[in-house]
Amino acid sequence: MSEYKTFNADDAIAFADEHSELFGEHSKLSAEELADGDLNLVFRVENDKGTSVIVKQALPYARFVGESWPLTTDRARLEAEVLKMHRRFCPEHTVEVRYFDPVACAILMEDLDDYRILRAELNDGKKFNHLAPQMASYMANTLFYTSDFVLSSENKKAEVARFLNPELCLISEDLFFTDPYCNHERNTIEPSILEKAKTLWHDDALKAEVAALKASFLSKPQALLHGDLHSGSVFINSDNCKVIDAEFGFFGPIGFDVGTLLGNLLLNYLASPGLHDAEDSASQQAYLLEQAEQLWLQFSETFTELMNRETQDPALENNLYQQRFLQQVFSDAAGYAGCELIRRTVGLAHVADLDSISDAALRTQCQRNALKLGRELIMQRSELNNINQLLNLVRYQQAD
Ligand code: ADP
Ligand code: MG
Repeated sequence: MSEYKTFNADDAIAFADEHSELFGEHSKLSAEELADGDLNLVFRVENDKGTSVIVKQALPYARFVGESWPLTTDRARLEAEVLKMHRRFCPEHTVEVRYFDPVACAILMEDLDDYRILRAELNDGKKFNHLAPQMASYMANTLFYTSDFVLSSENKKAEVARFLNPELCLISEDLFFTDPYCNHERNTIEPSILEKAKTLWHDDALKAEVAALKASFLSKPQALLHGDLHSGSVFINSDNCKVIDAEFGFFGPIGFDVGTLLGNLLLNYLASPGLHDAEDSASQQAYLLEQAEQLWLQFSETFTELMNRETQDPALENNLYQQRFLQQVFSDAAGYAGCELIRRTVGLAHVADLDSISDAALRTQCQRNALKLGRELIMQRSELNNINQLLNLVRYQQAD
């Protein structure tokens, strides 16, 4: 392909045919567009024997807004490269990229048609015990092996440069740390929660902490992050999880990936009373807290083991330093989880967990709880010593 052109179904078929061996000359191919992509075009291309692949193409704009929001197509390269890098260090839980075309800005990848999106499964009240251990392993391996503990100083700087992602980082910077704390036109705020949202705009103590979290996001290139690790970026089935959609990846603070995922478990926890009857909600909430606990415990255990065993830089072998490092990741994660709760409630991009609660009064209550817990996590993140203290904050927060 010599120049960029937005794919239609036939183009997606031709692309899949050219770059995979699955479609012999005689198989009949068909393509369907999957409608739930936020920013990109996604097609499933299938042959008449039921074998399929996914074709994902970056558009020169954000799909859910339209051409009025231009966006670099270089994000397809970043997505392909982050996924390839993460797959090197955690092949079990990273989707396989089979081909990337820099002109078409299109990726051919494994079809996870026997998996479902984690967010939808959690909203349906499904429980998976392998969620926390597998995602802990994904985060510990991908983040450790792309950090200063392993990469040489020279190589790390080259990698930081290769994964600079200014346009998509700017979206995260705005949506996480700026918009929710002012009267921004991009915000989506339900009228019933408007007064509560306004208190955020004038909460200087909170805004100081959010500024500190933003500064870390801007200037702490600890490891190659996924950058958008919410429960819509995780596919799951009865025995495995796989991560997709890494176009927001860049070198940033490790606590951002950990906190985003943790925040999404907490969002589902807070929404649970609005999604299920009392008994099912109680059991879903107990499940989610246990997963949140295990997510952190198993992440920190694996990360510690890797620091002990695999650190290449002698100066970073110091045990006390390593403990401090992990404690800082924990408080960062608590803070970023808090930002996730707030931005998903009053920012641009909401989550179905909260938005699909049909009872309006209940939905408002859940949203208020999300703002309250979000604030507490941000404000108290440095005083929280361990995951149990964090989860007690979740358990015992008083509704207001
Ligand atoms: P966007 O970056 O535009 O948000 P996503 O990568 O999140 O796009 O993909 C949008 C949707 O396409 C996903 O929610 C999922 O339903 C489907 N999809 C994406 N990648 C795959 C895959 N590898 N296998 C199966 N379905 C996929
Ligand atoms: Mg996406």
